[in-house]
Amino acid sequence: MAFSSLGLDKALLRAIAEQGYTAPTPIQAQAIPAILAGRDLLAAAQTGTGKTAAFTLPLLQKLLDAGRTGERSAQGRAPRALILAPTRELAAQVGDSIRTYGKHTALRSATVFGGVGMQPQIDALKRGLDILVATPGRLLDLVEQGQAKLGEVDFLVLDEADRMLDMGFIHDIKRILSLLPKIRQNLLFSATFSAEVRALSGGLLRHPLGIEV
Ligand code: AMP
Repeated sequence: MAFSSLGLDKALLRAIAEQGYTAPTPIQAQAIPAILAGRDLLAAAQTGTGKTAAFTLPLLQKLLDAGRTGERSAQGRAPRALILAPTRELAAQVGDSIRTYGKHTALRSATVFGGVGMQPQIDALKRGLDILVATPGRLLDLVEQGQAKLGEVDFLVLDEADRMLDMGFIHDIKRILSLLPKIRQNLLFSATFSAEVRALSGGLLRHPLGIEV
């Protein structure tokens, strides 16, 4: 299979080629068409499988498609996609991937996590963005301060859901879910499937496609 057969925009294919990727990994081959088709996803995937591109590429595509309707101005726009990750390292890595794959598009992203000053993150949110990558605690702090707006989120990704639960983020995640629009597409990635992960996914996903790699 070739990346060019997956239905991705030229701007994304160009960034993929510049990364030197020649073909989608198994999780990308399965996840990208399903996400583009609007499916919820329950993916069992370890780091190193290409899981980050498996969700960031189709999210970028969906936002490009939405942007063509032209109703959103750049300044101050609220995120349409929210990606939650357990640690600042993972959030930063996902944020870097989005910038890399999206570099030939006008889509904007911001990454927020705890342990660093809030002001640069607040400034980035104020400038407007399409994709927000966040750790749960810092996101809630920003929401409570009125700086992060979640009312336009159409796409939610929980990355490394098992680690988020192991780190005690279940209450933060539930609070964040309660702030999102009810109608949205949900993607859950986890390396392992404990009873807690199953309970979370059961409440979150509608008719998910299950992927295991
Ligand atoms: P991840 O599993 O998302 O942490 O990705 C693992 C590594 O695989 C990252 O360094 C990616 O840049 C790389 N990668 C992702 N997709 C591909 C691909 N289709 N071909 C080659 N390398 C890839």
